[in-house]
Amino acid sequence: MTLAKIPLAGVIGHPIAHSRSPLLHGHWLRSFGLAGHYVPMDVSPENLQEALRTLPRVGFVGVNVTLPHKENALQIADIVTDTARRIGAANTLTFLEDGKIVADNTDAYGFMENLKQGAPKWRADAGPSVILGAGGAARAVIVALLDEGVSEILITNRTRERAEQLCQEFGPCLRMVEWAQADDAIQAGLTIINTTSLGMAGKAELNLSLAGLQKEATVTDLVYNPIKTRLLEAAGDAGCVTVDGLGMLLHQAVPGFERWFGIRPTVDDATRKAALA
Ligand code: NAP
Repeated sequence: MTLAKIPLAGVIGHPIAHSRSPLLHGHWLRSFGLAGHYVPMDVSPENLQEALRTLPRVGFVGVNVTLPHKENALQIADIVTDTARRIGAANTLTFLEDGKIVADNTDAYGFMENLKQGAPKWRADAGPSVILGAGGAARAVIVALLDEGVSEILITNRTRERAEQLCQEFGPCLRMVEWAQADDAIQAGLTIINTTSLGMAGKAELNLSLAGLQKEATVTDLVYNPIKTRLLEAAGDAGCVTVDGLGMLLHQAVPGFERWFGIRPTVDDATRKAALA
């Protein structure tokens, strides 16, 4: 008698104890009654390559990679999707039968799915989008907005060179606004996206004036700890539709789970509860 192989997947980071991904994938595995495991793995940068080459040989079908490995994983992979290349980082790796590693990035997908689920009336052609921040997460948001057909993106960042760099790289739909003028950008925006780490528990607050915020604007925050950031609270008080960042984390996990375990999960209240457990 031969036993069917039990697929293994997981998340690699350094550190990794804080990751919510094992709770999330564990919840989906249980709810579909699937045989499979999803485990957290603490791997230091110098051991990443060896770990990624070994895992397919011991039954792993793929892994998520998180900080600090997102850029390195792209270099190590044998095949890189167009989306991962544009974002410049990978978060979802799939191991092919011959051991080759395919690197993808599902953050842009996760961002857009979450926005559409949380703000069903959101439209790409509503008006300018405003991105606060120009780090790794901003790159995924830019790709998501451009692919959805947003034609005007104002980007503002404390370190102006990083925002300028993104404008150069992603082209004429992007325009840099000085961080000191971020309030003006917010006034002009119909979609406001915080991609900075400001507002996160233990970090400083995002101290921008929301006085000019249009009540027709949709406001979303990538920060999900706390779930309801001060930005979202203030935007909600101003009458805006708000979308929290937890949903992005949940939606970005969907394509990986489907590739590794063969069923496409949905993101619902039970998924949110499981990830917060
Ligand atoms: P990152 O590459 O380190 O970028 C951090 C950004 O925050 C930069 O734009 C940085 O500006 C800005 N920032 C940090 N401290 C600041 C301060 N005191 N004043 C003004 N700006 C400040 O990080 P990241 O990977 O883009 O992640 C950013 C946030 O998104 C984190 O909170 C992360 O948890 C969250 N995130 C959420 C999801 C999700 O699924 N919901 C996914 C990815 C990321 P400078 O360039 O001037 O340093």
